Amino acid sequence: MGNKVIPYGRQDITHEDINAVIETLQSDFLTQGPKIKEFEKKFAESVEAKYAVAVNNATAGLHIAVMALGLKEGDRVITTPITFAASANCVRFVGGEVWFADIDRDTYLLSLERTKELIESKPKGFFKGIIPVDFAGLPIQLEGFKQLADMHGLWILEDACHAPGGYFLDSKKQKQYCGNGIYADAAVFSFHPVKHIACGEGGMVTTNSEDVYKKLLLLRSHGITKENMSENHGGWFYEMQTLGFNYRITDFQAALGISQLARNKNGVAKRNEIAKRYKDAFNGRLKFQVLPDNSLNAHHLFVIEVDNRKELYDYLHQNNIYAQIHYIPVHQLPYYKTIGYNSDTDLSNSEDYYSKCISLPMYPTLTEEEQEFVIETIMAFSSKNN
Ligand SMILES: *Cc1c(COP(=O)(O)O)cnc(C)c1O
Repeated sequence: MGNKVIPYGRQDITHEDINAVIETLQSDFLTQGPKIKEFEKKFAESVEAKYAVAVNNATAGLHIAVMALGLKEGDRVITTPITFAASANCVRFVGGEVWFADIDRDTYLLSLERTKELIESKPKGFFKGIIPVDFAGLPIQLEGFKQLADMHGLWILEDACHAPGGYFLDSKKQKQYCGNGIYADAAVFSFHPVKHIACGEGGMVTTNSEDVYKKLLLLRSHGITKENMSENHGGWFYEMQTLGFNYRITDFQAALGISQLARNKNGVAKRNEIAKRYKDAFNGRLKFQVLPDNSLNAHHLFVIEVDNRKELYDYLHQNNIYAQIHYIPVHQLPYYKTIGYNSDTDLSNSEDYYSKCISLPMYPTLTEEEQEFVIETIMAFSSKNN
């Protein structure tokens, strides 16, 4: 131990995965073929959503999702500072304004209270949407957000990139899978290799709205369609009905996604075993994300907080444990600092969290021995530094 690098997250590629890709490479379709539809159908079923649209990455998914939800230039949208920049950037792609509301200091998720305060501090109609994030894999309780959004006529786009397979229980004790479209208008998932399902690059948008679904299909593929045409010159004919993009995924990536998706439930279970061992080891000694029991955490990350975070980060890296920081608050990135839409909003929870957070290795193939080494290394650091 100590020589091999232990990253904070990594993909798991099996022989079945490889065979699925090879089979598709030898088939008639490398793209726009049956594997994409199969992946969409199976993914929609897995999160209990009506529709799913596969895309080339989650950032593209976020872009066409905000467009399908009707975001226009100048529209204002609220999101959390503790997320990957793409959750906010998608609003900027169409010239919208990004406003940040602070996180809950215990769960690290966008605070419902703070979101409500921000909305109520402005005239009616000021905001158009909310982008909550299932940060670290902890499903955000969307029921309250949905009530708030309905009161103010806002849409909700759930950034579920960290949470495929996670769910929370709503007030009726119903299991609400992340991205199931009950309390959000659409949701986005990522298939980047550090996420649960690895396609190399890839993403999925889910929704229960047929209207949003149809818009997503158009926007994914140049705005071109053979359906609902105003005229038809023959078998070759198509119409470009809106300005769209080429945000398609390939069939061989979809084949990999299908194969990976089949193992995700087990992967989430493994991640929860790893989380339990961390919690048992750190309970009462180190602060970590408060994890409510009324949900299944998909555990993309396991985040702890320490006062001497930079020292711990360097110490872990010296020991080949490549812990990572999630995230630098988005409002503090130079691009957003320059724009500074709501620079007077109190985001001190996010800033305080950022000064202490560090994400530990968390992926299904992390061995008990490797995790033991991670825990021992952190404990050795803590006893030296206290
Ligand atoms: C990874 C991630 C994205 C972007 O995903 P890509 O597939 O790399 O574009 C967006 N939001 C969050 C919260 C993420 O973690």
